[in-house]
Amino acid sequence: MKITYSIIAPIYNEIDNLPELYRRVKEVMDSNGEPWEFILVDDGSTDGSTEKIRELAEKDKTIRPVIFARNFGHQVAITAGWDYARGDAIVIIDADLQDPPEVILELAKKWKEGYEVVYAVRGEREGESWFKLWTASLFYRLIYRITDVKIPVDTGDFRLMDRKVVDVLKQMKERHRFPRGMSAWVGFKQIGVTYKRAARVAGVTKYPFRKMLQLAVNAITSFSYFPLQVATFFGFFSAGVAILAIPVVIVMRIAGSGAFFGQATTLIAVLFLGGVQLISLGILGEYVGRLYDEAKGRPLYIVRTVPED
Ligand code: UDP
Ligand code: MG
Repeated sequence: MKITYSIIAPIYNEIDNLPELYRRVKEVMDSNGEPWEFILVDDGSTDGSTEKIRELAEKDKTIRPVIFARNFGHQVAITAGWDYARGDAIVIIDADLQDPPEVILELAKKWKEGYEVVYAVRGEREGESWFKLWTASLFYRLIYRITDVKIPVDTGDFRLMDRKVVDVLKQMKERHRFPRGMSAWVGFKQIGVTYKRAARVAGVTKYPFRKMLQLAVNAITSFSYFPLQVATFFGFFSAGVAILAIPVVIVMRIAGSGAFFGQATTLIAVLFLGGVQLISLGILGEYVGRLYDEAKGRPLYIVRTVPED
């Protein structure tokens, strides 16, 4: 049977959300009438979600489980979903129901109008801490400013993509992935649909600050050289200051002024420049490390169970 919609949900310890996720997605997609499949990517869950997914898949063949051998991360789970999807339109949705499944039909409507990427824009967000809202807002705007691709602000991974787009994305084998950036990068006819982001139904966020930071670094390094350019800028700036300072110091010395001779001044200058150099080296290291990861060419993910057929 020809599948029209592939719904992909990455799952990491979402046992309490799974039944409700299944129920609501099924309700929406069945009401739509077109054939669909539900790809549940288990990203190394340890709370019994894996067994729950297997159980659901046993009863309902619409569900196609992809079980990872360990936790590979949200972005990689989405990628695996793309690899196994067979539909003409591919939808990514969070498993915690923060992205209401009902919105899928609105995305589908735009797709039918001929748009190839329909991304969901977070108009309002419920049940998030001010810290998350603030860092998220800052993140989206920073990415927009400094990267070469115009990644729409306030847009997560919740989106519908045409088969054509996903076929292109599948060829992009980069290791440190930022799917929403990748899907903006490919071009095609894109449009946003605004929705109200709900609160998590159950469980806690799987994005602690550390992972959020990692995602931000991946997004920036994947799509821009800005951090490297900052290092260059600092280099020119310090060199410029030095060139200006040298004649001043010489003149003052000849004039017999005691200024600029203190140890503290020297110490500050050395520490400051040392710091700038180490930071620059660290930035360079981020890019070199990523190059190394690419060069190793390891598989992006390892699956324990692939869907049947
Ligand atoms: N997720 C995943 N692997 C991870 C972390 C998260 O598959 O290592 C999934 C998680 O189960 C959820 C989605 O990614 O379906 C978004 O995660 P979460 O809701 O924790 O992020 P937030 O909405 O708080 O940004
Ligand atoms: Mg969430």
